Amino acid sequence: MFGFVQRGAVKFLEAEEISALGFVTHAFCTRQGGVSEGPFADLNVGDRVGDREEDVRRNLTLVGEAFSIQEGRLMLMRQVHGDSIRVIDGAMPLPGEVPECDGMITDRPGVALGVRTADCVPLFFVDRIRRVIGAAHAGWRGAALGMAARMADAMKERFSSRYEDILAVIGPAIGPCCYEVDAPVFAALSSRREAERFLIPGGKDRWMLDLAEVSRLQLLECGLPEENILTAGFCTACRQDLFFSHRAGRGRTGRQLNFLMLNAGGN
Ligand SMILES: [Zn+2]
Repeated sequence: MFGFVQRGAVKFLEAEEISALGFVTHAFCTRQGGVSEGPFADLNVGDRVGDREEDVRRNLTLVGEAFSIQEGRLMLMRQVHGDSIRVIDGAMPLPGEVPECDGMITDRPGVALGVRTADCVPLFFVDRIRRVIGAAHAGWRGAALGMAARMADAMKERFSSRYEDILAVIGPAIGPCCYEVDAPVFAALSSRREAERFLIPGGKDRWMLDLAEVSRLQLLECGLPEENILTAGFCTACRQDLFFSHRAGRGRTGRQLNFLMLNAGGN
């Protein structure tokens, strides 16, 4: 079950199944509650989209304050539509370091793993037994690379997570109602199992792509039980009042922040 919650200035979507665990703070932030203006209004956290630098910094500070994230402990990525994953276990990344990757995993309390999106899928992972978390970004390229399954596998390899202990949450992303794709995207995804469930024929050489469903099927195939996979279901392009959408904003828009963090001091 998903619900909207307000904390400080920030309105966000949360999954009750994650909140109920008691040891994870998480949020799929909406675009509401920040200081950015124009196409970046309000809570833009994208630093390479044309928004004012000081506004982006202020927005990140507002989120940090709302969720009591310690200074320098919100980890962001330079997302490159790849499948590399950064594990944060021993040494913390340097202050201000933004690793080039599309997924992060940690067992360290107090480290917030952030994903910036505007149509692409934000993915959260929580091993409810070993208390390990992960966050990832998957657009169509990441989906074609099997990013969702790569994250679950990486948690298993590095932290001995069992698939049945992992809760996966698929956040707000562009829906099949609005995401028309062309032949190159079709070619990248059509050989995947059950492709007819996420590539719906549209016009000539056009398909409607259900990105969230690609990730959900990958996780099922990986071995996660169906009830462990939660899908938010909001379409970012349909709901521009709530979310930034790259497609609907014709490329000129902001990025929303999605993050999760193991609470310091346990529960
Ligand atoms: Zn839509």
